[in-house]
Amino acid sequence: MPLPTLRRLLLLALLLAPLLVLTGARHAQAAETRKVLVLYSLGSDSASAWQQLVRKGLYDELAGKRWGDGPNIFEEHFDAVRVGEQAALDSMAPYLRVKYANVKLDAIVTENHLAAGFLNSHPELFPGVPRFYVNHGRRNWRPGDGEALELAPDYGRMLGVIPLVAPGVKRVVVVGDQSPRVQEWIAGVRAASRPYSKQIAFDYWDRQSFAELYRRAGMLGGDTAILMFATYRDSAGEIGQPSEVMHKLAAVSPVPVFTHVESLVTPGVVGGYVLSGEAIGRVIARILHGQPADLSGVQRYIFDHPTAERHQLRNLPPEALLRNRPVGLWELYRWQIMLGGTLILLEGVLITVLVRVLRSRRTALAALNDERNNLEDRVLQRTLELLTVNSKLEQLATTDPLTGIANRRRMTEQISKELDRARRYKHPLALLMVDIDHFKRINDTYGHEVGDQAIVAVAGALSAAMRSIDLVARFGGEEFVLLMPEASLETAGGAAERLRETVSQLCIDVEGGLSISLTISVGVAASYPQEAPDSPSALLVRADKALYQAKKDGRDRVVLNAA
Ligand code: GH3
Ligand code: MG
Ligand code: MG
Repeated sequence: MPLPTLRRLLLLALLLAPLLVLTGARHAQAAETRKVLVLYSLGSDSASAWQQLVRKGLYDELAGKRWGDGPNIFEEHFDAVRVGEQAALDSMAPYLRVKYANVKLDAIVTENHLAAGFLNSHPELFPGVPRFYVNHGRRNWRPGDGEALELAPDYGRMLGVIPLVAPGVKRVVVVGDQSPRVQEWIAGVRAASRPYSKQIAFDYWDRQSFAELYRRAGMLGGDTAILMFATYRDSAGEIGQPSEVMHKLAAVSPVPVFTHVESLVTPGVVGGYVLSGEAIGRVIARILHGQPADLSGVQRYIFDHPTAERHQLRNLPPEALLRNRPVGLWELYRWQIMLGGTLILLEGVLITVLVRVLRSRRTALAALNDERNNLEDRVLQRTLELLTVNSKLEQLATTDPLTGIANRRRMTEQISKELDRARRYKHPLALLMVDIDHFKRINDTYGHEVGDQAIVAVAGALSAAMRSIDLVARFGGEEFVLLMPEASLETAGGAAERLRETVSQLCIDVEGGLSISLTISVGVAASYPQEAPDSPSALLVRADKALYQAKKDGRDRVVLNAA
């Protein structure tokens, strides 16, 4: 490797080295979890209202994970109300020494005055660990070590909230006990009351028994308000739980009761500009993370909504927290309602579209159905017409146009059918061949039309005389054939004789008032299927032979073909 390149690489490594070291250090710091001890003093135990608020603020803030990994928290309670203040204080130091012998703490935080006083009087505990005294509650007090985080209460707002939200108030009763802590608060209020001295009268009730307090509070008039401080004991030395005293006072008094700490804002108590336990908890959370702590903002407007409504309070500051406010369905389920509404709307649109599509489909189907019915009707009509035409054609094809009786074609078919039938059932069948005698003479004498009339008259006579099962046809010009099923040669001969007789007696009226008469010759043949199979032409030929014989024999007669 050439020397200049090597030098450049070395230079780059030297430049990057501090960056790598810094990154490594940051990783090591992040990996180390802060260990913090929190000492609580106020409240009878960890379940007291104040401690619950403080811990809620603390853990809500930590859960927000604004500063990365949370610290490792150790919590201790003095439990002074239950075990006695002295016992609680005396036992704590040895207890902590033993319990935390092997724990290397990064910070100790105290909450409220008992814990603050304890830690301050034990400088030998946890040497070198930073100490934070939060809300230590002692005016003009400074701990011997660590950081004191004490709030200077804003008495102006604490008092000013009363005329702000209840402008009609003419008298304010300030209630507390004679403990130095409460007296300090009362002094603060006294100083803050001066600007209101013209329109509001102030009473200070701090020297009376609890019984007297409740009795007097119950008798207060409508334009009065109470500002109640945490009260631990009365002038007779009786001990009271501040929250219980507060609750009882609010229950007996008809006037709005304001207070100064969040844990006392319970149903029945209006609230006010109060010290917030939750906000204190958030301050402690910042300390646990090693962040700079700031107590401004731990006093805030908090109201019990139903109680504020009951006392018809107005002008509640917009930033105020409203406890126990009934939350409307809309507020609770806004997104669900909106989503549900949208779904219902979409479903509605879908259903409308579907209904439209179905409706148009139904209309189209109905139109198709109508069309099909029309078509069927038309087809039926055409079929009927066709059948009629066909039957007419059929009739035309098998009918003689001049006489209206069957024609030669029809007769030929019928002979064939009847011969088959006669053969199958072994029945006789007779055929008569009829020819008008000397017809040429009629034509020649009277003309062709008269000849036609004569043919029609003979056809009519033949038709009228025959049986229903017989068939008569015009076979040629003036020649007829009569087919007689079930008739033997003799029977047919008899029938032929009767026909000859009938025709010979016909008087045919023709033009010019004339009346002509004529005769016929008849040849009769019969089929005997049991003897030999017959054919239409054979039967016709035999009948024709008999007719020929009749003509030969002189006409106007019947000849049977015996063969
Ligand atoms: P015969 O006694 O031997 O039968 O004598 P005929 O004069 O009747 O002779 P034939 O049967 O041979 O003659 C039939 C005549 O009938 C011939 C023809 O001019 C006539 N004729 C055939 N068809 C018609 C018709 O449709 N109308 C009329 N007016 N005359 C016809
Ligand atoms: Mg003839
Ligand atoms: Mg003839």
